[in-house]
Formats: sequence, C-alpha cells, structure tokens
Amino acid sequence: MYTTQLLINDKWVDASDGATGETINPATGAVIGTFAEATSTDVDEVVTSARVGFESDAWQGMSPDMRGRLLWRVAELIEANAEELAALETLDQGQPTSVSTNLSVPLAAQVFRYYAGFTTKIEGKVSPVSIPNQLTYQQRVPLGVAGLITPWNFPLDIAAWKLAPALATGNAAILKPAEQTPLSTARLVELCREAGVPAGVVSLLTGGAEVGRALVAHSGVDKISFTGSTAVGQEIVKTVSRDLKRVGLELGGKAPSIVCDDADIDAAVAGNLQGALFNTGQACGAFTRFFVHRKKVDEFTSKIASAADSLRIGPGQDPETVVGPLVSEEHLERVAAYVKSGSDEGAQLVTGGGRVMGSLEKGYFFRPTVFTGVTDAMTIAREEIFGPVLSIMPFDDMDEAISRANNTDYGLVAVVWTKDLATAHTLPRQIHAGTVFVNQLPLIDPGAPWGGLGLSGWGRELGAYSIDEYTETKSVFINLG
Ligand code: NAD
Repeated sequence: MYTTQLLINDKWVDASDGATGETINPATGAVIGTFAEATSTDVDEVVTSARVGFESDAWQGMSPDMRGRLLWRVAELIEANAEELAALETLDQGQPTSVSTNLSVPLAAQVFRYYAGFTTKIEGKVSPVSIPNQLTYQQRVPLGVAGLITPWNFPLDIAAWKLAPALATGNAAILKPAEQTPLSTARLVELCREAGVPAGVVSLLTGGAEVGRALVAHSGVDKISFTGSTAVGQEIVKTVSRDLKRVGLELGGKAPSIVCDDADIDAAVAGNLQGALFNTGQACGAFTRFFVHRKKVDEFTSKIASAADSLRIGPGQDPETVVGPLVSEEHLERVAAYVKSGSDEGAQLVTGGGRVMGSLEKGYFFRPTVFTGVTDAMTIAREEIFGPVLSIMPFDDMDEAISRANNTDYGLVAVVWTKDLATAHTLPRQIHAGTVFVNQLPLIDPGAPWGGLGLSGWGRELGAYSIDEYTETKSVFINLG
C-alpha cells in the first residue's frame, strides 16, 4: 500500500484533519494506496509556504546557470528512477507498460532537460522609445506562486510540462494531481527535493475538486495552470474573474481525422487506430471523428474494425497489452453511456460496445468500439468521450470534410491522411485546431507548443510559449538626462 502525504514547506505531513482518500488499480479495482485529503487550512499553509519559498534568497538568488543545473538534475533523477515511475503510472493510471515506459517517463525527463536549457536564455529587450534621454528595456519576471492542477490521464507528463517551465522561470509551484492518480506526482515532487529545490518552492496538495477549488480561489496564488475538463475550466474562469490571476487552460478535444481519397489506407488504418486507442482513448488529442472519403469508407471501416478487434486487452503490467483499463468504474460508466447513446441515436455498431467480462471483469476494461452511420449532430460526434470509441462518417469532397471537421466546439488536434503535397500544406490552415498532424499519430515534443482553440482552452504549453505563460513582462524606464 502506498501512503501519500502533503508536501508543505519541505515537510511531508498528513492533512490537518487527518482525512485521506483511496487510490485504486483500475486493472483490478483493488485499493493500492491512500492520499491525504487537504483541507482549506492546508491550502492556506501551502500557499503561505510557497510565497516564502518564492521570495527566499535560496530561490531568487539562484543564478540561471544553477537553476538550469537543478532542472537537469531532476531529469537525471527521473531517468534513474524510470522503472519505479513507470510502474507507478501503470499501477495507478492503468497505462500499458509500453506507454508508461516508452513515453510517459522519458518525456517527463526530456521536458525537464528542455527547460533546463531555457534558464540561461530568458531575455528582455531594449525598446526604441521616442522620449528623449531614456533607456527603456523589458525584463521577464516570474509570476510568483503557480497552482498546477492536473488530470488523471497522463499524470507524470502533464505535471512535468507545467512544473519544469514554472521552475525555469523562477516561480514557486504547488502541484495538485487528480485524486484518481496521485502516486507518480508525489514521487516527482520527492525527486525535486532530492535534486535540491529550496524549501517551499515545490509543494504538493492532494485531494479532489474542493482542493482544486480552494487553490484557484486563493488570493495568494498568482497563476493557475489547469489541464482537465472543459466544465472545470469554465468554472475556473468564473472564479479568477475576481482577482484576475493569470490562467492557462488545456481542456478537452474532439479531434477529426480526415482520410482523403488518395490516402494510403493501410497507413491510415494503423495510424488512426493508434491515434484513437492510445492510452485506451483517454487522451485529449485522441482521434475520434473519422471523416473518410466515400470511395474508401468501406475498406477503411472493415480494416480498422478488424484491427481494433485483434488488439490485446489486459492489465498495463502485461507487456503484451495494447488496450489497458479505463481509469475508474465511474469513467467506464460514462463511456458505456456514450456508446448506448450512439446506438439509441441511430449509429451502427460495427464492433465492441461493451465492458470486457470474464477474467478481466473486476477491472474497468472496455472493448474498442467502432460506429458507422454517425451524423454530425449525434452526441458521440459532439461530446468528448475520452474512451476507445471511433465514429466513422463518409464525405464526398474536401470542402465538405473541412466544414464538418470544423463543426465542433473544440479545437485541440486534427489529422489529415493524404499523399498530396498541396493538401498536406493547405489543409492545416483551414482546420480549426491548435495542432494539425499530417499522416501522423498525435505526437508531443517539448519543442512544439500544445494547446487548443474554443472549448479546448486558452494558451499554449511547451516550447518557448511556456516561458511566456510563467512570466510577466516588466518595462523599465531609466532617465539618462
Ligand atoms: P477534471 O476536470 O475532472 O479534473 C482535472 C483536475 O482538476 C483534477 O486534479 C481535479 O481534482 C481538479 N478539479 C476538479 N474540479 C475542480 C474545480 N472545480 N476546481 C479546480 N480543480 C478541480 O478532468 P479529468 O476527468 O481529471 O481529466 C479528463 C479531462 O482532461 C478531459 O476532458 C481531457 O480532455 C482533459 N485533458 C486535456 C489535455 C490537454 O492538453 N488539452 C490533456 C489531458 C487531459
């Protein structure tokens, strides 16, 4: 059993009222650990200690070079503890080992290393003002205390891609992982201590929505970086309207995949299958709405349905597993309700459609599900399912495909499958999404910004954009007269 406490002022402590929550292994339904359920008193304490940490000489006096070394050291520690971190992610989240080992942990280390390189390159500018006898320049200054609220689908990576730039720019950070998956974040926080992050600069709050709410509402917090559902993002915007703290929102998605008539269908089937079922479809960038040229739709449907059927479903710990469990019983019920709505609204189920029973029935396993006959107005075509559900819709010409792909409230990711160079270059401009892939799986790299339009959120993470997200621009006018 794992026991996770709060990290406040560099000390691991229980919640002030001793309350705890449980975290479970989604492959078996068994309780694997407890975490401290922070109270509002704990939130006050953590914010106070983060402010002290932020202002401390140890942090503000640390040179950019030393801060870079510190982040590099965190990356090294992630790598040195890779096996343990991957095992925690698989146990707590359900991620297939291939995903936790080959993607989640290496990407987290890569993100820290990427931002380690930034600490010595955060520059201001000299402004050519027209007022005589002035030297006017800009500094990039940290915001202060950043509250980093993360979801359960990629707990380690999403924590890393908020924490690394927050620290690179000299902020203090309070992490609040999702209550379903606190374990890898708690370990990451401990690795930051081991790397030598000064007291109060990195803190951990665990617990549910109330803890997130208290952090968002707290006047001592200067910035909220939130990844999660659109509904919570909207609530956060309402709350921060009181003090106008800075906010970044990475929310849901409903990615279209456009398969043109000239596409390599076998490549499109393989790529779309991975793009749709990666982490059991529990990815904000998951491909979900498949617009396939009418000439190719039958071939695409039969190939992707039989490929989906052949994927090995099982616990993440089994190295052969391709499709792991959904994160919780509650989430499985939500996915099942969407699948039922698809059938009720007239879509045709080609394969899948239900929970996996037999030896896996204690876990939250759901069969990869393919629908055809889906219309743009159906619930499964409009709402984010966040599970292994694919909706296939034929189209006749590119204008139709683009307009239907854009007929969504979201705008995180899109993909196009074509052999035509002109389509590959012109279509991305026409698609309403923060990232457009061409003949690709959804890829993430620290060097490329990630974020969405519309209900997919505000701002960008990763790349140099995160430096802007965690700094203010301050102008200085020096009188030379
Ligand atoms: P969620 O919004 O329920 O919870 C996310 C986090 O917010 C958790 O830590 C939770 O405890 C906390 N929280 C819940 N209610 C809160 C409130 N009122 N105020 C403050 N914090 C609150 O989301 P989830 O179910 O954990 O994650 C799935 C969602 O995350 C999906 O919609 C998915 O698309 C989105 N997501 C987006 C991205 C992206 O980069 N755009 C990446 C991953 C996940």
